[in-house]
Amino acid sequence: MDEFEFIAKYLAPLAGPGGLGLKDDAAVLKPSHGKDLIITKDTMVEGTHFPHGHYGAKTSGKLLRANLSDLAAKGAIPVGYMLSIVWPHGVDESVFKDFSDGLAAIQKKYDFKLLGGDTTSSRGAMVVTATLLGEVPENKMVRRNGANIGDDVWVTGTIGDAYLGLQKVLGRPIDPKPKGTGMKHFENAYFRPEPRISFGDHLRDYASACADISDGLIADAGHVAKASNIKFKLNLEAIPLSRPAAEWAMGDLSRIKTLVTSGDDYELVFTAPSTNESFLTEASAGLQLTKIGTVVEGSGVEVVGSDNTLIEFDQAGHKHF
Ligand code: ADP
Ligand code: MG
Repeated sequence: MDEFEFIAKYLAPLAGPGGLGLKDDAAVLKPSHGKDLIITKDTMVEGTHFPHGHYGAKTSGKLLRANLSDLAAKGAIPVGYMLSIVWPHGVDESVFKDFSDGLAAIQKKYDFKLLGGDTTSSRGAMVVTATLLGEVPENKMVRRNGANIGDDVWVTGTIGDAYLGLQKVLGRPIDPKPKGTGMKHFENAYFRPEPRISFGDHLRDYASACADISDGLIADAGHVAKASNIKFKLNLEAIPLSRPAAEWAMGDLSRIKTLVTSGDDYELVFTAPSTNESFLTEASAGLQLTKIGTVVEGSGVEVVGSDNTLIEFDQAGHKHF
């Protein structure tokens, strides 16, 4: 099956009206009246961002989930995407199908369509890139630079589960072994992070700044602090861990540090004036929201333990190079 057959058979059915059936040189998109277009891109490289040989739905699904998480952090609703695929040589047609099934499932769940892209191949690793387009009401994108002194710092969901999922995927031991569905929980967190798109309305209404957590909580909190020219003071014990992750950590400081500095969580770290606390907890609608600190004068991220002792970190999070 050649490139054009792949596009016609597996990608064209995923295209929205602006994609013109993937039969033209480019797509056309009319932004909705009164909306700003929000644009984000993420690339995943085999062996770096996903395990060798994972060419199917787990990878295509995660590519879209990771990009959706960036839109979620900006309070945006997805409208469409561009997709670039560098296939390794000699993959089977069943892989094409599995890959496109993964895209279809996420498109359906979050209601957006394919607009176009590019397909090629190489003798090296697989590389996939998606550029997602989303919308927010005019001038309402939630920025990284809006945090103010006195704001609370919040985080969605739980932190560190994807790290433990990655250990499982890499065949490394997880000791103690999680009980019951714990291992499944970790793997799901790694392969199927839940982008917090449906929280977007509330984020736009109540948050002053936000970023999604892809490089690790401490690092991404640091990105917001830097952009806003303030300091985050975080309480280590307040950082939410899932039950299986807490059981793995066993209260050990170095393990907890690992969880709060490792990547791939795709939760949101955001700030909000403390007067918005009751609105936020009311709006959360089942989404776990945890207050983990406050915004103070200064720069960087300061993490303190129970008796206000300073916790030092050698590395705040994942670096790409
Ligand atoms: P060109 O030769 O101009 O680069 P192509 O022939 O590669 O264009 O692409 C033909 C059509 O297929 C275009 O509409 C393009 O957007 C679409 N397309 C190609 N690869 C992908 C992809 N990976 N995902 C979505 N659409 C794609
Ligand atoms: Mg062309």
